[in-house]
Amino acid sequence: MPGSIPAHARAVVVGGGIVGCSVAYHLAKLGWRDVVLLERRQLSCGTTWHAAGLVGQLRSSHNLTRLASYGAVLYERLEAETGQATGFRRSGSISVARSAERLTELKRGASMARCFGVDVEVISPREAGRLWPLMRTDDLAGAVWIPRDGRTNPIDTTLALAKGARNAGATILENVTVTGINRTNGAATGVSTDQGDIVSDVVVNCAGMWGREVGRMAAVNVPLHASEHFYIVTEPLAGVTRDLPVLRDTDGYIYAREEVGGLLMGGFEPVAKPWAMDGIPTDFGFSLLPEDWEHFRVLMEQAIVRIPALESAPVRRHVNGPESFTPDNRYMLGEAPELRNFFVAAGFNSVGIASAAGAGKALAEWIVGGEPSMDLWDVDIRRFMPFQGNRRYLRERTTEVVGLLYAMHWPFRQPETARGVRRSVLHDRLAARGAGFGVVAGWERANWFSAAGVEPRYIYTYGRQNWFPGAAAEHRAVRESAGLFDQSSLAKFLLEGPDATATLQRLCANDVDVAAGRIVYTQMLNRRGGIECDVTVTRLTADAYLVITIAAAATHDADWIRRGIGDARVTLTDVTSAFTVLGVMGPRSREILSRLTNADLSNATFPFGTTREIEVGYATVRATRITYVGELGWELHVPTEFAMGVYDDVVAAGEDLGLRHAGYHAMDSLRLEKGYRSWGHDIGGDDTPLEAGLGFAVSFKKSGFVGRDALLRQRETPLPRRLVMFTLDDPEPLLLGDEPIYRDGALVGRITSGAFGHTLGRSVGMGYVAHADGVDEAFLQAGRWELEIATERFPATAQLEPPYDPKSTRVRS
Ligand SMILES: Cc1cc2nc3c(=O)[nH]c(=O)nc-3n(C[C@H](O)[C@H](O)[C@H](O)COP(=O)(O)OP(=O)(O)OC[C@H]3O[C@@H](n4cnc5c(N)ncnc54)[C@H](O)[C@@H]3O)c2cc1C
Repeated sequence: MPGSIPAHARAVVVGGGIVGCSVAYHLAKLGWRDVVLLERRQLSCGTTWHAAGLVGQLRSSHNLTRLASYGAVLYERLEAETGQATGFRRSGSISVARSAERLTELKRGASMARCFGVDVEVISPREAGRLWPLMRTDDLAGAVWIPRDGRTNPIDTTLALAKGARNAGATILENVTVTGINRTNGAATGVSTDQGDIVSDVVVNCAGMWGREVGRMAAVNVPLHASEHFYIVTEPLAGVTRDLPVLRDTDGYIYAREEVGGLLMGGFEPVAKPWAMDGIPTDFGFSLLPEDWEHFRVLMEQAIVRIPALESAPVRRHVNGPESFTPDNRYMLGEAPELRNFFVAAGFNSVGIASAAGAGKALAEWIVGGEPSMDLWDVDIRRFMPFQGNRRYLRERTTEVVGLLYAMHWPFRQPETARGVRRSVLHDRLAARGAGFGVVAGWERANWFSAAGVEPRYIYTYGRQNWFPGAAAEHRAVRESAGLFDQSSLAKFLLEGPDATATLQRLCANDVDVAAGRIVYTQMLNRRGGIECDVTVTRLTADAYLVITIAAAATHDADWIRRGIGDARVTLTDVTSAFTVLGVMGPRSREILSRLTNADLSNATFPFGTTREIEVGYATVRATRITYVGELGWELHVPTEFAMGVYDDVVAAGEDLGLRHAGYHAMDSLRLEKGYRSWGHDIGGDDTPLEAGLGFAVSFKKSGFVGRDALLRQRETPLPRRLVMFTLDDPEPLLLGDEPIYRDGALVGRITSGAFGHTLGRSVGMGYVAHADGVDEAFLQAGRWELEIATERFPATAQLEPPYDPKSTRVRS
């Protein structure tokens, strides 16, 4: 009804699905009264209304599991709070394994769940059969039982959230369509609707599969794509009881649960059907897509294997409803890097019911507090690159990501669709050398090099994969002679202007006001002292710096720096594409490069932590003496058009000195032995440099940098949480990350990243250990340490110092 919408609001939430209602609910609960939610039709009419309602708790990371567990808690108590039933029940869930490898995966998940406080039990096929009598179990290897998992009614839960939001002061308006996002000076200032404009401080895009379109109204990249998604509901079946747990048979791509005495069975087929490539029809609401039994067949065939009664069960309903998927199967949360005060919570990849409560709470805290209240990197919208909004890319990737939800979550698994998107100019040369490529931020990167005549294709397993011997040889070459890495995917930013030094001094924990030609390793911190960016800052001139970060953090770090710049007279330019980066690393790197340049590479003239422009062959390159592998070495930043020539020269110069092409798998094992941290794994927004053992990179002498006060407070007491290095005593098991850490039998932490260390001859990892009285070397030495891999515990050695070259003599040699 025209005229009924308010002229002003503190926050406008676009979309009345379960996610929008949860955001409105949590904003209102945090005390924001004038929150307005706009829904173009009726609440829940998009994807929410036809969801299957599974509420699983176990997710890929600690914080996401915490958020999903909160969902079960909130949905359980909403009825008492609002009077609106949610239909939530803790029916428990069973996941079964058809193969030994799948059982290993489930057991690894069970071990991880212990770190996250989720109650999980590994059970036998027979026990699984007792819990789920209609299931065939004679072909199973085992199962996992999560007794506190649940299911809910999606519509009722959405209405309960909406009621709770209204009770707390929010306004919810149906039949209002947002048609534009209004912007001034790089910030959202409100929305236009088919019934007038609303001026607001904040706009939140919760438009589900319309999220990409609503993002485009604001020139914000929201990379998601709709896909058809299916389930069936049978008539009542004998043996199906109300308290039947949710069943997942991921090897057969399917799940099943009770629905009005029958079974609701759906799944995640290996090749999905992207939908609405040309946009979602405007009249779509409480709508379904045509049945497609042919497409559903792959699920039906597998379901009958597991639940034979389904073969003759009369089907009451075939549901084909669209849901939105993102390129990496994780949802998107946070303030858009392109536009201040424009927040996104969209792309829920078929877990939006389970995730809405936690996502809504986390986003509301982010909006109200001005920053996330915990590390949300896994779902942070800034993990995406601009190219990922590309239609062809999204369409192709969507055919694959739906199935990946239930496919084997192999370690190092690479996507197969939408590949070759970003390539270094050396790509074909590396391919000719046998490179096996992986993908990060769209970049094809050599992960390892296979022997001549062997196809460099991943053969996945939870044991040693086929690239293991190749990576081992590369690792040894770097330690003993030299390795050549293509590190072009590093994100490179030029920060220039009269206020460049002042800006960086404020943003960086380390002192970057150094002589031109010096490189400073530093973190940029949030107000809690948590590590937002982990970068090197190279001073080029009095007012120009090069800031280098990992490929995956490119959008995030650029956004962090741009926000930090504020009104200062500084520009930030992404120069990533302008430079190919060749890492020549190892004890013979000096000798190799000396053959190509007349520059003096000696320690006296070219010490560690410095950079110079030198001639290499025909090119002038920026040689930077730095390392992520713990050896003498240089990264050569080569203007892209000179890169092939420089590469050819380096390869030729190194041939008789043992130079070997090396990939990112070797780099990972090398850096872990040396204890170098990886942002996004070992360090992030919840970890301070003191906890992470990076106190050496903090300049307390410098006043006024962001996070300093938090660090000063933390410095006053013994650290109750610290990043610790671990090596397994047994050379056989592999650490991959997320393994629980035990001290004298008590759970005290979790491995953040791990790999086999080829120099140490055993797995090496690092992880945070917590102890109220402080974690120091004496505490470590006094304990008996074990790491749990796939529910089995293995003795380990714990220490604060890296196990390889702790004094960095090799780096400075
Ligand atoms: C078959 C199927 C089974 C599923 N099963 C499960 C499950 O078991 N467990 C689970 O956790 N998840 C499940 N899901 C996923 C879940 O349904 C979704 O992730 C979730 O509903 C997404 O909620 P949303 O609020 O983001 O999107 P939606 O519910 O689609 O809400 C978005 C809303 O925005 C509105 N909107 C769009 N554009 C505008 C505009 N311009 N102005 C105003 N309003 C606008 C739309 O009308 C819509 O109501 C399933 C999905 C499907 C398809």
